[in-house]
Amino acid sequence: MRMRVFYFFVVMMPSLGLTAQNMDDVEITVEQVRADYYVLKGAGGNIGLLVSDGESLMIDAQFAPLSARLLDAIDHISPELPSYLVNTHWHGDHTGGNGNFADAGIKIVAQEEVRTRLSEKQFIRAFSREVPPSPENYWPTVTFADSMTLTVGSETVVLVHPTDAGHTDGDGIIYCVQNDVLHMGDLYFQGKYPYVDLSTGGSVDGLIAGVQRALLLVGEDTRIVPGHGKVTGGAALREYVEVLQDCRDIVSAMMKQGMTLEQIKEAKPLSEYDAQYGTGFIKPDAWIDTIYTDLSR
Ligand SMILES: [Zn+2]
Repeated sequence: MRMRVFYFFVVMMPSLGLTAQNMDDVEITVEQVRADYYVLKGAGGNIGLLVSDGESLMIDAQFAPLSARLLDAIDHISPELPSYLVNTHWHGDHTGGNGNFADAGIKIVAQEEVRTRLSEKQFIRAFSREVPPSPENYWPTVTFADSMTLTVGSETVVLVHPTDAGHTDGDGIIYCVQNDVLHMGDLYFQGKYPYVDLSTGGSVDGLIAGVQRALLLVGEDTRIVPGHGKVTGGAALREYVEVLQDCRDIVSAMMKQGMTLEQIKEAKPLSEYDAQYGTGFIKPDAWIDTIYTDLSR
């Protein structure tokens, strides 16, 4: 048990960048995905930026030490300050800059559980780590339960809560209708096994169901922005959810045969996927651990 916690800690700390160390070296890069849509990368979750007729909306905030550099990069794309910052979920690598952006005058929008999670103390089991409540200026001031539509310039922006228990319990996906871009947040770890935060309301089956619901919005040309990784089309997202489903079914069948967690790990049952999907910050054993723990509840 002790080993497992240690393993998670070592593997995941650098990737999620839970500390503000070395942020001086982080370079902000900008990729134009569509005429009016950009993806900004630095450290933490991918940031989306929609610019339409002099108005703009940003998705996710990365870490607080990066806010000034992110605002500078946004200013080079559009001189107007974004009207909204939408959080895809509560994790610090997506909301760490909330306070700075709110202080700059940007309205924070999210699914209502994001406000609850940010305003109360949290415990992340995978890191054995307590997260104190965030200051009040981090909290979303506009929240939705199931869905909400915003108009930004001439763009229709649809916010959807596709599952009550996915990556967390407060996931939101954002679809920009005219530009045909879908921002998935951490429901989509592009080409990798996902991190499912079981300790703040996530679940493997719920994540799969959420991705399947998101796919209903996806057409032939839709560009899909993951929480982490590269922008893809629908085929890659479809393959991702099929892999997750297959992994779930494989581990579930072994559990039904009465195998223990250690026995399942030793059998390396997901080896056909491990070479690609197991190279992110969720390694094959951690992914089996997640499925096993979740299905045992
Ligand atoms: Zn996350």
